[in-house]
Amino acid sequence: MTETVQVRGNELTGADASAIVAEWLGHFAAAVQSGSASDLAELFLDGATWRDFMALQWDFSHAIGRDQVVVRFLELSKAVNPRSFAINTELPPAAADGGIRAFVDFTTRDRIDRGYVYLVQGAEGFVCSILQTQVVALQDYPEKAGDLRVVGKAYGVVPNRTRWSADRRKEASFEDSDPAVLVLGAGHNGLTIAAYLGALDVPALIIDREPRVGDTWRKRYAALALHSTVHGDHLPYLRYPPTWPAHTPKDKFADWLESYATLMDLNVWTSTEFLNGHYDDDTQRWTIRVRRADGSIRELRPRHFFVAGGLFAGPKIPDVKGLSDYTGLAVHSDSFQGGDDYAGRKALVVGAGVSGHEIAHDLYEHGADVTLVQRSATYVVSYEAYHKLWNPLFAANPDFPVDFADQMTYALPPERSDEINKELVKLGAELDKDLLDRLQARGFKLDWGPDGTGIIGAHMAGKDSYHISIGAAELIADGNVHLKHGVEFSEIKGGKTVVFSDGSEMPDVELIIFATGYHQFWGHIKPALGAAAARIDKAYGRAADKEYANTWRRSAQPGLWFGTGFIRMARYYAKFSALLIKAIEVGIEPVDPEKADEELTGSELTRR
Ligand SMILES: Cc1cc2nc3c(=O)[nH]c(=O)nc-3n(C[C@H](O)[C@H](O)[C@H](O)COP(=O)(O)OP(=O)(O)OC[C@H]3O[C@@H](n4cnc5c(N)ncnc54)[C@H](O)[C@@H]3O)c2cc1C
Repeated sequence: MTETVQVRGNELTGADASAIVAEWLGHFAAAVQSGSASDLAELFLDGATWRDFMALQWDFSHAIGRDQVVVRFLELSKAVNPRSFAINTELPPAAADGGIRAFVDFTTRDRIDRGYVYLVQGAEGFVCSILQTQVVALQDYPEKAGDLRVVGKAYGVVPNRTRWSADRRKEASFEDSDPAVLVLGAGHNGLTIAAYLGALDVPALIIDREPRVGDTWRKRYAALALHSTVHGDHLPYLRYPPTWPAHTPKDKFADWLESYATLMDLNVWTSTEFLNGHYDDDTQRWTIRVRRADGSIRELRPRHFFVAGGLFAGPKIPDVKGLSDYTGLAVHSDSFQGGDDYAGRKALVVGAGVSGHEIAHDLYEHGADVTLVQRSATYVVSYEAYHKLWNPLFAANPDFPVDFADQMTYALPPERSDEINKELVKLGAELDKDLLDRLQARGFKLDWGPDGTGIIGAHMAGKDSYHISIGAAELIADGNVHLKHGVEFSEIKGGKTVVFSDGSEMPDVELIIFATGYHQFWGHIKPALGAAAARIDKAYGRAADKEYANTWRRSAQPGLWFGTGFIRMARYYAKFSALLIKAIEVGIEPVDPEKADEELTGSELTRR
């Protein structure tokens, strides 16, 4: 608690806030140094939380409630000795929502770290209600950035000086070497981890089966633009120009990804398909077989295999009687390129998730007579409510640099985020009341995400039954897009008549879009990894400790890593994976914590 500065949170000046944080931090550093649980406990609110991203241990973890926070912080401190606490000067402490938010620099044994602290006024002064700590860098292995950037061309006489583009080609070819990390997938997750690894000087190769980086986005339906905005969608090290559209159209995003791979000197083999892999526990290396563009098979032996193949694998199409005799066009939403040719024609969109809504919207805009089939319930939030409630830190004129906004975004333990999400879902429902009432009046069935947690909860559960509406929901509410709810699409009769499970029929349907989702990616490639996959029950979603299951942290299988999710998540979380991989590569950390003693004293370390 702080005693010398006693002011109400909402009356604080910047100088007050800094003085209060400085005093709190002084007490905090002393309590951590002395290991005094009672001193430390005085500095926290009863219901305080702490979330740590690899600052005090090489893992993600959290604690809820003062006692847990104090015990856990002191326990982990013993091994890594947090010290050199100082207020971060880039973003000084400031009054915020009745409390004070501050960023704090510190170090642990081999790491440089940053904390986020939110102080509130308690009975006897300011105490911490939210603490978040994260690794920022390795002390002895900084990124090749800023003053440490690559020279590009050394001055003076360099006999047989090589050319940059030839060097890059050689580097990317891995002709006579293996990458330390093989990344599966050149989507934003694959590119992001490779960019971080590149900056840390860890040789990484990305493979992607598509001919061009970004093709996954190019192939998606033509009407698609990112729902998230440019302000929160920056990839590491490279900001979008200020002229960039607020919502990046999907082909533009595809080109941005492709350019990013080039500009960041990432090693990418396109038209290269992952075939299978095997992990050798003794050598702690993978043998991974890939098929290259010319059909040749290459065996790669990386120490780490980072799976960034997306959340979803192939499209799901229901088994509908009579579909093979259908005389119109029936396609999955995944490959539908747009409604331009369907003016005045009858179209059926099966599935009321993100894609189903947007394709129905697109078809309506092009004059089609559209019906959307909704089998179960969908979570709907308007674009305005979504950005107002969930994205205030990534606004057009943000108050925080992106990496500070990221740190605040991921400051709370998952259980607390769930509670907040539930509140936001309720607030969203109030803001969207008129729209939601009108949707229900049309028979549209609403859902609120798993346990009321909306989109975030649905995404974590691998579900895509949600929709951020930029107009599609209004079209349904107004009756411009027709709705069939609570029925299954069961049969096609006579080549063009659709029959539903309630016996109703729709004749002369010329276009059927199956917006019926995808198979899960992990389930799809798991068999190709043999025994190494057996320990991984799921990739993404929640683990037993409520942190991400096997994703961005060590997975249950040494040498196997996963990264997926929204662009913002990739930017934030992949850095932790990259730093941990670097720590493993230089011998700070073992590959397999269960064999730590053996490994870190053995010959494997000296070979690296
Ligand atoms: C309709 C839609 C709208 C979206 N809108 C947003 C949005 O507004 N904001 C946002 O942040 N995100 C959005 N997303 C993306 C979402 O965040 C996904 O989670 C994201 O696509 C996952 O990215 P990724 O990099 O993990 O995988 P992907 O982008 O799916 O990339 C995976 C890559 O792996 C490759 N691959 C797969 N299997 C193999 C194999 N066997 N061999 C070789 N290569 C392989 C694929 O070709 C692909 O290039 C949207 C997604 C969809 C479908």
